[in-house]
Amino acid sequence: MPARSRYPAEELPFVSDSDQSAQKKGEKKRDIAFVEIVRFVMRRWLEHPAFLTRTLMGIALATIADVATPVLSGRLVTDISSHTGGAPHDASQLALRNDALLMVGGLIALGLVGLLGRRSSYLGITHLSLAIMQRALSQGFARVQRFSTDWHANNFAGSTVRKLTRGMWAIDTLDDTLLLLIAPEVLVLTGTTLVLAWHSPFMGAVLALSVVLFTWLSVVLTLRYVAPSARAANRWDTKVGAAIADAVTCNAVVKAFGAEHREERRLGRVLRAWSNRTLRTWIRGTNSANLQGFASLVMRMLLVALIVWQWWQGKAGPGDVAYVLTMVFLVQGYLRDLGQQVSQVQRSVNEMEELVAIFDEAPGVQDRKGAKKAAFTQGRVRFEKVTFQYPGQDTPLYQDLDVTISPGSRVALVGPSGSGKTTFTKLIQRLYDTSEGRVLIDDVNVRDVTQDSLRARIAIVPQEPMLFHRSLAENIAYARPGATQAEIERAARLANASAFIERLPEGYATLVGERGVKLSGGERQRVAIARAFLADAPLLIFDEATSSLDSESEVLVQDAMHRLMAGRTVIVVAHRLSTVMELDRILVFSKGKLMEDGAHGELVQREGGIYRRLFELQSLEG
Ligand code: ADP
Repeated sequence: MPARSRYPAEELPFVSDSDQSAQKKGEKKRDIAFVEIVRFVMRRWLEHPAFLTRTLMGIALATIADVATPVLSGRLVTDISSHTGGAPHDASQLALRNDALLMVGGLIALGLVGLLGRRSSYLGITHLSLAIMQRALSQGFARVQRFSTDWHANNFAGSTVRKLTRGMWAIDTLDDTLLLLIAPEVLVLTGTTLVLAWHSPFMGAVLALSVVLFTWLSVVLTLRYVAPSARAANRWDTKVGAAIADAVTCNAVVKAFGAEHREERRLGRVLRAWSNRTLRTWIRGTNSANLQGFASLVMRMLLVALIVWQWWQGKAGPGDVAYVLTMVFLVQGYLRDLGQQVSQVQRSVNEMEELVAIFDEAPGVQDRKGAKKAAFTQGRVRFEKVTFQYPGQDTPLYQDLDVTISPGSRVALVGPSGSGKTTFTKLIQRLYDTSEGRVLIDDVNVRDVTQDSLRARIAIVPQEPMLFHRSLAENIAYARPGATQAEIERAARLANASAFIERLPEGYATLVGERGVKLSGGERQRVAIARAFLADAPLLIFDEATSSLDSESEVLVQDAMHRLMAGRTVIVVAHRLSTVMELDRILVFSKGKLMEDGAHGELVQREGGIYRRLFELQSLEG
């Protein structure tokens, strides 16, 4: 028997994808309405008027050609059947023959018009859909990139990719269904109903009423009955993507614990949940189609009964009955197609929901209107009465925090884990906005400058440097696009990275693997330092690695760091006190409060001080 999980699929930890974690905090996400999604697409149609006109004109031409063809064929049959094959100089026979020839010509012309119309509509919609898909995806990506750090922490990369790409393809299907299928059908149905009404106003009215009722029934069934369950199925489809991405990203951990089977069982549980939701959706789809079929049968029977009743009353002849029966069957065919297409629209709309939700989501920290470029050169940092609370936390982390870091000084942030050291550096970069108070750099509020220019003036060497799966040269030059090879190599030399890079078979062109997995921790750190050299920013934030490097790497990193610190304002998030001792000033945090502030020599002397206690503890360990 397979080992059972502690978690039923619903409670699997990774199910805490954005919507769920938001619900936990009591801010339930709203469902995006069907109409909103259709409007989202239609607004985009209007952004490409030329392609839209070409598509619509094409559809109109092809539909007119289709509707006119039976009329011309009918007249051709009448001409032929009226022709008795008399002498060619007989005027009436000649007229009939000429008319028949005209009809044949007309039919050929209509065939060609239909072909051209369809070609124009297909070409139009191809350009239209591609332009919209391309824009929707790039705008979605741009929004995702700017979402808050929290959003990214709460959303799996795998699900985000799935939401974006599935939504993009759903636009294609939705465009095709609405424009190429539903639009011509509505035209033909309207035309046919009008023709019937012309023949018999009463029957026309009955047909019009039944078409409206049938369409209403299809829409209600689809939106109220099928769509909610399709929405749930799609959420699970996203979770399947997330589960696969999570396991694949952490493949090294899976391997290390020989946990392949465990991950497969885990995916199996998500797939079962997905399959249950999808089965329910498909069954509801079938039920809905059957109900529509039944409604259509009732409608047909009603119309047949009506015309037979009229015949009974002597108000309709056999010709009328034949005509109405033909119309009823024709219209029924269209309605069946329309019902299926309404379901297709619903499926595409559901698939677009999560993409549209990305457009609906509040953006992260935003630039103020008229924000200027940050141009600070000294790197004086000032926290003025800063109160800050993380979204979802009950109490503020900082309350009225006042700190000034003078330009050119080297400051360490020290304190137990969770005391607010990293948050301090996040507020400087304006990854979050303060609830109250101001963060100033060179006396300019970080809210008054653009985020990209602000962050370009701050060089970061993170705890766990992340690299792109691109060449080493590209990774280093990320800090300064357009840097020359010589500049890149100089930065690498200063960061003590050149030796190991030059030993690699492809040198600076070596691809480093996803997130830089092909390099050791110390090497990744030196690449990050090289980036910081190229950034050449007046303010440097160094988040010290918690995991200790081997002694040789440690020496190389320390040496490069010293070189990097020269002439800049430096803030070090320190995890080992050995680094701290030589810095100018130490800020000791505890639970978001600044408890001690001074140089090492001063703080170790302080009786009962936190720093002194930490220092003694580390000396014991050391
Ligand atoms: P340190 O760097 O000193 O270890 P942090 O500044 O990262 O501490 O975190 C300070 C406190 O804020 C911790 O209690 C942590 O749990 C909380 N915290 C950090 N990031 C977030 C977040 N994104 N959302 C909610 N709480 C957070």
